[in-house]
Amino acid sequence: PVLTGGPSTRQVKLDKECELRVEVSPEAPLRLRILSGTAEIFGTEIPPEIWLTFPPSLKFAVFTWYGATIELDGTTETDYTADETPMISYVNVHAVLEGRRNRAKASPDDSVSSQGPRVIVVGPTDSGKSTLSRMLLSWAAKQGWKPTYVDLDVGQGSITIPGCIAATPIEMPIDSVEGIPLEMPLVYYYGQVSPSLNADLYKVLVKELAQTLERQFAGNAESRAAGMVINTMGWIEGVGYELLLHAIETFNVTVVLVLGQEKLCSMLKDVLKSKPGVDVVKLQKSGGVVSRSGKVRNIARKSRIREYFYGPSNDLSPHSNVVNFNDLSLYRIGGGPQAPRSALPIGAEPAADPTRLVPVNINTDLLHLVLAVSFAKEPDQIISSNVAGFIYITDIDMQRKKITYLAPSAGELPSKFLIVGTLAYIEN
Ligand code: ATP
Repeated sequence: PVLTGGPSTRQVKLDKECELRVEVSPEAPLRLRILSGTAEIFGTEIPPEIWLTFPPSLKFAVFTWYGATIELDGTTETDYTADETPMISYVNVHAVLEGRRNRAKASPDDSVSSQGPRVIVVGPTDSGKSTLSRMLLSWAAKQGWKPTYVDLDVGQGSITIPGCIAATPIEMPIDSVEGIPLEMPLVYYYGQVSPSLNADLYKVLVKELAQTLERQFAGNAESRAAGMVINTMGWIEGVGYELLLHAIETFNVTVVLVLGQEKLCSMLKDVLKSKPGVDVVKLQKSGGVVSRSGKVRNIARKSRIREYFYGPSNDLSPHSNVVNFNDLSLYRIGGGPQAPRSALPIGAEPAADPTRLVPVNINTDLLHLVLAVSFAKEPDQIISSNVAGFIYITDIDMQRKKITYLAPSAGELPSKFLIVGTLAYIEN
């Protein structure tokens, strides 16, 4: 309901438990503020009276528990008020998790009961998994917990760039505009945007990430009690389903939240019923979730990479560096040529090792690729090492044997071992 209308500002009154669903115009940003009452965006409260600026094309909802009046300044692609949302069921899940966190905190010395809830959010593409993960994390952070966010979706990347699996503690409700702060997340580089291309490598990296988190939890009762929220990809059939089961097992998940798919929910209930201590809960998908086409996802991936180097509001300036070919050592993981049959003993089948390290020669094919900088000290540690960050190749001079790359900060790279994947980025 529009109450007043200026040339471009207008007020919207929201009744309790309603939300305003907004798609910002693709051309220009939108400003928004709260005039009265309280409201939140995906679990993070909107500060009173301050104008917030949302970038073009962003899709979000302003939800109020008790009623609010908000003011908009600018144009939207669409905006409408919805009075039917699944928010009550979501906040009920939060309340149950909260109880489990408190119980975990009460017994810090017991290695089993001191472990807070380990939640995984699963469902088809565009069911609102990332959004629900975000709400659960922000609500927990608001109450003083520091839950760990784990993102296993190599297709989008909500912690760092696509092609990675990553984890980071969430210490404050997630900023509605800036998203998750990029402070030292724990990142493993898979190098592709679909896990199907090398599912075995994907599993190996998921395991490495889980083991590293397990070690961190062992020494930190606070984050152990806060637990984790794991966001997954929308691929839930065939190998995708197996990868979900693998993640549930590997992270010792205790709560599986299934968004908007009856079949997936009953399959998971069936296979997990033999495991006491794992709850499978079906939740309704929000009618506000916006479906995204392959093209839109591609654009989103590109802007994630751009954001990594230039900041969410274009406020960072990456550094350009030049190094000699000899100063770097590049590897690709898996996918290398198989041993020819003639080189094998009679009867043996050639097998491509999915986690084989293949050295990569530097040539102009690497132009515009995004490479991960490994923390490995030796090549044989590359697969089990997390990555420090990413560089982007902007020039290759074959004659002088020099590479020019962009990095988020100046100075020498933390290691000369770089991992090559298929992620590319073209500036325009
Ligand atoms: P994927 O399969 O790509 O991982 P997903 O299931 O994680 O997708 P989300 O990313 O949570 O889905 O949601 C898809 C889009 O819908 C996002 O742009 C999100 O901001 C938007 N969205 C989610 N809930 C709402 C809502 N209630 N109102 C308006 N927009 C929403």
